[in-house]
Parts: sequence; structure tokens; C-alpha cells
Amino acid sequence: MTVQRLTLEHFRNYTHLEADFHGGVNVIVGENAQGKTNLLEAIGYLSSGGSHRARNHRELVQFGCDRARVTGKLWNGQRELVLDAQLPVGARRKFTCNGVGLKTLGELSGLLPSVLFCPEDLHLIREGAGVRRRFLNDCICQLRPRYAMALSNYRRLWEHKTRILRDCGEKPSLMYALDAFSQQMAEYGAILIHYRAHFVKRLQETAPAIHADCSGGGEVLDLSYHTVSTVTDPLAAPKVILEQLLDHMERHKQAEIHSRSCLSGPHKDDLVLDINGQSAKGFASQGQTRTAALALKLAARDIMFQDTGQWPVLLLDDVLSELDRRRQEFVLNRIPTGQVFITCCEVEKEELLEQGKVFHICQGALQEE
Ligand code: ATP
Ligand code: MG
Repeated sequence: MTVQRLTLEHFRNYTHLEADFHGGVNVIVGENAQGKTNLLEAIGYLSSGGSHRARNHRELVQFGCDRARVTGKLWNGQRELVLDAQLPVGARRKFTCNGVGLKTLGELSGLLPSVLFCPEDLHLIREGAGVRRRFLNDCICQLRPRYAMALSNYRRLWEHKTRILRDCGEKPSLMYALDAFSQQMAEYGAILIHYRAHFVKRLQETAPAIHADCSGGGEVLDLSYHTVSTVTDPLAAPKVILEQLLDHMERHKQAEIHSRSCLSGPHKDDLVLDINGQSAKGFASQGQTRTAALALKLAARDIMFQDTGQWPVLLLDDVLSELDRRRQEFVLNRIPTGQVFITCCEVEKEELLEQGKVFHICQGALQEE
């Protein structure tokens, strides 16, 4: 799927914008605070019905205005699709596809698949396991509805069990329900582990090659999935994993009661990343951190393509800074097929671009070169 034309009305710092994009690489060049991220945000909004940095749609409406509108004319190689989002301040937003109103946000899913890389994604490498679990959850939920269902049940049970453990000192009767919650959490937990292990296996098959390509073959990225210690084979069938999870929970029951928190289960999983045999979290340089985060995102995009036959639109916000010339050249010219939007500040980057379109952006106005 590609975005052929984007029209914005009173969206962030854009009063009115109409832009026609290239089906391959589009480079958006501009100084700070001119509207580069806002443009990617608008495309991301049509894709997911949400923004990676706004809590509600009111923030997206230009200051002093009462409504915003984002319209995308899309092309999937065979037919044209017009996606439209109307964002009135203080009222419900409305999405239409070819003029037909969408009843739920779920109906938006799959119409304009996208993968976003933003500066916050560097946390994937540098921060704690929670960020990487969120990455795995986001990716697998998009591909596997059964996983999304298991995850939401697991979270509900986790909250309930956490409350029991917290309050059972004052209300010992709550303890009777503890084993039943542990059992159910293990059942859903086994499904999560099974799907995560299979997704990480696919990442292992894809991400290291992308990382090697980007770094010129000089670096080896290694990924491994860490889960509950009693699970001998996370790729096994959920019913095999279930027994091993129950065993772990039983062994940690006293510790859970003592610490008044859930200690056992895949809510502590991690995706461990090494570069050249060293922990990426502890030792990666700025450029290596960026390369590894980008490799993960590009690998997720590959996997989405393998499953759906469609290349998700790739939105790369400020990915080029801190990369050396070779790595910049990889981002601009070596990402295979599909539509890509790349924002950057420095003008000389465009000299590296072999094919595609360059746009200059100044105070919410876009000019094609
Ligand atoms: P940088 O290179 O620093 O990342 P950028 O080009 O990505 O800059 P944006 O994040 O797109 O900049 O923001 C551009 C401008 O839009 C900012 O000055 C911001 O204050 C402004 N802006 C954000 N929200 C609104 C809004 N609702 N109405 C009007 N202007 C807004
Ligand atoms: Mg920005």
C-alpha cells in the first residue's frame, strides 16, 4: 500500500497541505520545529487511528481551530482507496473509507499498514525489558488475533492476582482464590510464550542480516528470547509449556505471598540483544543503538510482508542522525521495495539519495524539489 496524496486541514502546524508522494523513498528535509514529525504523525494516524505522541485527538487540531482533517489517497497496486479522518474538538472523531463510515477502529486495521521508527525507539535497546515486551506485543497483536486475546486476558488476571497478593494480609479469605488465578494465568501465559518464541525465531531469521547490511558486515546482532526459567522449549505446544509454568508458580508461591507481588510468569520476559557478543543494552554506541533498533523495526516490517503480502509504509523519523555515511546510504537506498518516508534536518543528506523525491518543509509548507 502507498500513500499517493495526503491532504491536511488544520492538522498541528499545517493550515492546509496537499502533497503527492513517490511510491518509493520520500525524504522530508527541514529545520527543527517545521512540521516533519507532524507529517509522519498524520500518516500514522490514518494507519492506526492513534498517534505515537498525542493522548487525544484534540492535541492534533491546530491551535485556535475547531477541527482538523486528514485525507489519504492510497493505492495498493490494483485499486484506489480514500481514507479520511475528521477530528472535531470536543466531539467524536469520524473515519471513512471511500466515503463509507467506519463503525470501529478495528475496521481501520489492515487498510494502511505502517511501521514507525521514532527517536523514542532507541529505548528498545537502552531501557528495561518492558519496552521490548511492548514491541513484541505490538507486533504479534497485529498479526495474531489469538495472541491479542490471550494478552488482554493475561493482563486482567495479573491485575486481579496482584490485588489479592497485596490485600491478603488484611483479608486472609482472599487467599482461597489465589490458586485459581495462578492456574488461569499460566494457561494464557503459555499461549503468550509460545507465540513470542515463534515471533522471536522469525526476528532471528531476519534482523541480523539487516543489521549486517546496514553496518557493512562489520557487526553481528544476536537476539534471544528469555522467559520463565522452568520452560525448557518456548517453541513447544502451549500445553507442554503450561505444566512447566505451573511448576514454576508452585515453587515461587511462598515468595509471591511474602513479597506481595506476582513474581512468576511471562510478564517478566525479555528479548535480549547482543552486538558482537556484548550486551547491546550495556555497551552499544549511539550509532550501533540506532542501527539495532532500526534492524528490529525493518525485520518486523519484513515479517508483516511475509504474512500479508503487503509492504507496510515505513515512517522513519530522524533516523539518519548519528549514523555514518555508509549507514545513512543504506537507509536511503537499500531498503527493499515499499514506500518509505524519511525525515532529516541536514540538507546534504539528499545528495546521497539515488531514487525518490525530496521535499523541503518550512513552517508547515511543503515544497517539492
Ligand atoms: P524537529 O526537527 O525538532 O524534530 P519537526 O520538524 O519534527 O522538528 P514537529 O514536531 O513536526 O517539528 O513540530 C512542528 C511545530 O508544530 C512545533 O513548533 C510545534 O509547536 C507545532 N505544533 C504542535 N502541535 C500543534 C498544534 N496543535 N497546532 C499548531 N502547532 C502545533
Ligand atoms: Mg521531529
